[in-house]
Amino acid sequence: MRALSKEQFTAYANGQIEMADQILAGHRQGPGGWCSCGKQLPCTVEEHATATRNRYRNKLALLDSTTALPVLACAAPPRRNPLWRRLLAGLR
Ligand SMILES: [Zn+2]
Repeated sequence: MRALSKEQFTAYANGQIEMADQILAGHRQGPGGWCSCGKQLPCTVEEHATATRNRYRNKLALLDSTTALPVLACAAPPRRNPLWRRLLAGLR
């Protein structure tokens, strides 16, 4: 099994989302509890396409959330804290 790179997976996921959107365009809630495709609601095709779109949107969001953020300030140990003083003294 071959793993996809981030760019390959992003392209694949966007393709799946676009296809789900195209499918969903033909499945809208109509009058009397019927889908515009002619099935009685809930329409299983609409549910599956919505679930697919949400799944890939969530996966793309997880990819974006792992982006490294810049370091704004370096943390310095509090030198007045006795525990830190003992620790630093022990390292020298
Ligand atoms: Zn439908």
